[in-house]
Amino acid sequence: MTFQVMHDVRDGLKYLFQTTNDFTMCASGTGHSGMECAFLNLLERGESLLCVTTGLWGRRAESLGQRLGLQTFVVEAPQGEVVSVEEISKAIEQHKPTAMFVCIGESSTGIVQPIQGLSEACKKHNTLLIADTVASIGAEPFKMDEWGVDCVYSATQKVLNAPPGLAPISFSKRAMDKIRNRKTKVASFYFDALELGNYWGCDGQITRYHHTAPISSVYAIRSALSIIANESLEHSWERHKTNVKLLHSLLEENGFECFVQKPENRLACLTVVKVPQGVDGKKVTASLLGKGLEIANGLGESAAKLWRIGTFGGNSDEQKIRNVVKMLKDEVQNPTNKL
Ligand code: PMP
Repeated sequence: MTFQVMHDVRDGLKYLFQTTNDFTMCASGTGHSGMECAFLNLLERGESLLCVTTGLWGRRAESLGQRLGLQTFVVEAPQGEVVSVEEISKAIEQHKPTAMFVCIGESSTGIVQPIQGLSEACKKHNTLLIADTVASIGAEPFKMDEWGVDCVYSATQKVLNAPPGLAPISFSKRAMDKIRNRKTKVASFYFDALELGNYWGCDGQITRYHHTAPISSVYAIRSALSIIANESLEHSWERHKTNVKLLHSLLEENGFECFVQKPENRLACLTVVKVPQGVDGKKVTASLLGKGLEIANGLGESAAKLWRIGTFGGNSDEQKIRNVVKMLKDEVQNPTNKL
């Protein structure tokens, strides 16, 4: 693989995240490795992390923070709702955390969490803003530089429709200053942003061997990034929004209820639906899978009560959405799927 392929990927990621950050690259691993890379580099044992929680991923961030010996604080939304930027700003004011974590697209609840306006409070208290965009990038607007985000990570298998295996990640200048001034070495060689960044050609130095790049995944993300750039981000954001609105109205017309009540809080690429009373939700998804349609069950304790319908990338398509709702309705009406 020539380094040109990696440089193409870096250019594509800068466009995807809307950033000019030099340290824009991929960690080798799935979305979780993005979270680990972000926390391991930006935080040292004993420092603090504020987790904005709208579902499972805020709790996962808290748990990782605790594993890393961080002091963790949580600001949690009521079920199916977002945390307001004012509330988050207040929590920053109160705790003055070293970093804060926000999941933009909460795939367990189908929430889109707004972050515009947060960077002011973050800068005032020297807090680094970390955003998880695994389940939202490419479908929901995201502007790293304009919104003052210090670290963003994502994954390849959602809106990009590439195979899982890489975690795109970008660090702001403020984030890199923090990393360069650490008192202790990053506890992981594999996820060390300075080492990884050198390997990806981010530091302008001669590149050193760091690890063996999963080259098939690098070629795959390069193709995926070229597809989204050809469509344009603005068009992709609009397409996801228009198609998810169609999905919501078809679901409601057919007697289903969305988990997230307020339409403005619903994610454009993943919709969480309540399993109707008297229906065996898992039987329905198993039967649909047999027919070639995968709808996910809820995550965690809500597994049997919710369905999650992904409209990521190529699946954000009018005809596919119409088929999904029709097939789901047929299954619900089938007596063998009753409780
Ligand atoms: N964050 C979010 C919002 C996710 O939806 C996921 C995966 N579902 C992850 C992180 C973790 O990604 P992975 O499963 O690729 O490790």
